Amino acid sequence: MEFKIMILGHFLMISLALNVGLLYRDYCNGKKKSQEFFSSENKFNNASLVTNSNANYVVESTVPETKETSSSKAVDETIDLDHGDPTMYERYWQKMGDKTAVLIPGWRFISYFSDVKNLCWFLEPEFADAIIRLHELVGNAVTENRYIVVGTGSTQLLQAVLYAVSPPNATEPITVVSAAPFYSSYPLITDFLKSGLYKWGGDARKFKKDKPCIELVTSPNNPDGFSRIAVVNQDRGILIHDLAYYWPQYTPISYTADHDIMLFTVSKSTGHAGTRLGWALVKDQEIAKKMTEFIVLSSIGVSKESQIRAAKILQVVSDSHKYTGDFNEGEAFFEHSHKLMARRWKQLRETVKNGKIFTLPEFPLGHCSFTNRSFASQPAFAWFKCEGEIDDCESFLRHHKILTRGGKHFGDDEKLVRINVLPRDKIFDQFIKRLSSISSS
Ligand code: PMP
Repeated sequence: MEFKIMILGHFLMISLALNVGLLYRDYCNGKKKSQEFFSSENKFNNASLVTNSNANYVVESTVPETKETSSSKAVDETIDLDHGDPTMYERYWQKMGDKTAVLIPGWRFISYFSDVKNLCWFLEPEFADAIIRLHELVGNAVTENRYIVVGTGSTQLLQAVLYAVSPPNATEPITVVSAAPFYSSYPLITDFLKSGLYKWGGDARKFKKDKPCIELVTSPNNPDGFSRIAVVNQDRGILIHDLAYYWPQYTPISYTADHDIMLFTVSKSTGHAGTRLGWALVKDQEIAKKMTEFIVLSSIGVSKESQIRAAKILQVVSDSHKYTGDFNEGEAFFEHSHKLMARRWKQLRETVKNGKIFTLPEFPLGHCSFTNRSFASQPAFAWFKCEGEIDDCESFLRHHKILTRGGKHFGDDEKLVRINVLPRDKIFDQFIKRLSSISSS
């Protein structure tokens, strides 16, 4: 009986979502605007992205010399480190070759449903198993007694969770805060639809009101890479932990995260940003249900093809550590990516130290239970500070044809910029060269 009601409920939700979709389509009626993702300025007219967009399925060293790719002159001109596009991982996954290939015949995944017995009924069991296995291997998050909600990137999950935890009948929207410097997309995502449920309130440290709020806790933090804990009074704050970067290539795994709501994404764990998948580990059933409802109404679930592909990728990551005999030496995923990050950070620090223009944050040593080694964080972004008289670091670097994202986007000072440390090798090497020539001039 309960099962029948569940199925009926799912169908009602789907039909509602379809109707909303149709209404929306009619309303928009061709008025679609192109939206530059999460940036107030359009910085896409630069050469490195043009070249890279051609290399979606080939690593730079194997890109044939076409009209676009042969324009290395253009690549030299502008280095785009504004977005956190994790193309650094491409080379590793190319090496893995057929191990990660998935063949999906045309008859598969016709249905909307994946597992009607699961609260999140569009979650592919194979993907759920791969998530649990990976967290158990790494020890970075508790999965027992948690609901897993899958989303189209953790970007969709963030919106789902804001909807799910906001009081539905409050007289005014609940305030959403995060300690500055915060991820630049938080304010944009929060206020995009001018929701009556929630609104952006800025820096969590400045939130002094004696009122409830939602705090987004990002650890390690985007942009500055530091580990974080909540700053608002726990009695009034509903906490959402964004753990996108809590993986051992970036930071020591120092505890098994056990928070009420935790968000993860394949974009930063394995580098598969284009697969557009994230997952939430949620303690409370009602919150998980409401998040599921949000995703049903916004996209009637999440691509099964993506989930199957991501399941395969996560399985290979786990296998590379468990069945090392099937892999070459140094191919265990986190070992490989940790080394890559260590090399990049060493180069970065040496280049910055040789000049007097920039400084970088220093991270303490921490013990990592996964690698059983101590190391300092080596984040996905470098939080650069322009020293001396340079007040606008983003403009200064843009003048040197390096595109970065300035501190003001993160609720901080313009002397600071965020720099992507995850581009392809070639772009990163060019950046280091450019940086050392700026430093020595
Ligand atoms: N949270 C943080 C802290 C991020 O840095 C990002 C990606 N830049 C996201 C969420 C969004 O990730 P996804 O690609 O899964 O939407």
